[in-house]
Amino acid sequence: MASSKKDRPEQDYQAPKPGPLASVAGFGTTFGTMFKKPNTEQYPEEKVPTQLRFHGRHQLNRHPDGLEKCIGCELCAWACPADAIYVEGADNTEEERFSPGERYGRVYQINYLRCILCGLCIEACPTRALTMTNEYELADTSRSSLIYTKDRLLGPLTEGMVPPPHRMYEDESGHEVTEKEYYRGEVPRANADLLGEMLAAARAADEQNAAEQNAGEQSAGEPEVSF
Ligand code: SF4
Ligand code: SF4
Repeated sequence: MASSKKDRPEQDYQAPKPGPLASVAGFGTTFGTMFKKPNTEQYPEEKVPTQLRFHGRHQLNRHPDGLEKCIGCELCAWACPADAIYVEGADNTEEERFSPGERYGRVYQINYLRCILCGLCIEACPTRALTMTNEYELADTSRSSLIYTKDRLLGPLTEGMVPPPHRMYEDESGHEVTEKEYYRGEVPRANADLLGEMLAAARAADEQNAAEQNAGEQSAGEPEVSF
């Protein structure tokens, strides 16, 4: 049975009375801040370094011989709460190898219009292919330029690295490094002979591509002959 207003005990609530300093207490934060040293940063003229673990732009890492660490598994894309990553994997072949193992990331994109830099993707990556740098200058003037493609995300080639595709590394005794050794980071330092051989092969492939491109452009530019 519903109780009427009359049955309920009267609530004798009284708001606390404000103290004598209540009217000035609200200014405490204002006065406290007035006497602190101002922290004005002259950005962009002066860039203050970030904390070491700051989450900035992503980077796709390479093994010490230049092969890519990404295996195109898409776990980063599945982990992303903002649906900012797009990955398409493809098979490596012995003639065209981009990473150790079966697969590599053929297409890799991060949409920085969506990314909230939370870092869940780098936690999900099983090969430490994906990490985050300290770079935070990600503003731009067009939407398309904020979709970073694989060529912009791949880390630079440092000493001893050869741009893929190339075969998996061999150590000085001729032992081919296994996939597991790659994933454990047990890739030996670059052997000068092998490095030279890989570089020569990479240059030859580049020259062949350039020659094919030139030939294509020339044939496209030739006027059509009509009879
Ligand atoms: S940092 Fe977060 S939001 Fe950005 S791509 Fe990775 S998981 Fe997605
Ligand atoms: S970056 Fe890592 S998680 Fe993402 S596809 Fe490549 S290997 Fe998989």
